[in-house]
Amino acid sequence: MQVADKKVVTITYVLKDDKGVTIEAVPDGQDFAYLHGYQNIIPGLENALAGKTQGDELTVNVSPEEGYGPYDDNMVQTVDIALFGDAEVKVGAQFAADSPEGEQFPVTVTKVENDKVTVDGNAPLAGQDLCFDVKILGVRDATEEEVSHGHVHSAGDHDH
Ligand code: ZN
Repeated sequence: MQVADKKVVTITYVLKDDKGVTIEAVPDGQDFAYLHGYQNIIPGLENALAGKTQGDELTVNVSPEEGYGPYDDNMVQTVDIALFGDAEVKVGAQFAADSPEGEQFPVTVTKVENDKVTVDGNAPLAGQDLCFDVKILGVRDATEEEVSHGHVHSAGDHDH
């Protein structure tokens, strides 16, 4: 069975940056399943997997444009620590910020200096060339329920 829209694809992968340093690896025994064609994974990876079959192994290079987007300096801001109220503010902490359009998006604290806090609203891997070593472990038809929800339901539990 080939990877196509409305298929549930189970993969394992190692994600490296453009210097070959491992960023993330799927742990043994914890394979990753996604519903193909519903933008559940980054476009560069989803496109590369289309048409492949179980057992295929491939190396996929993904540009920022097809990955987590370009890095945007405008997404980095320095704000007054008073804005955080009672929350514990330290490097690496994540908060929700409001966009000018009123939507919430996650930001990560990258610097705390005196009463000034620098937050970065870019995705953690924004602006990076990524390399995935992927192996396709399985391909199956999605259930009607999975298709209507737009995501995979793992065996026996439906946690939303
Ligand atoms: Zn669901």
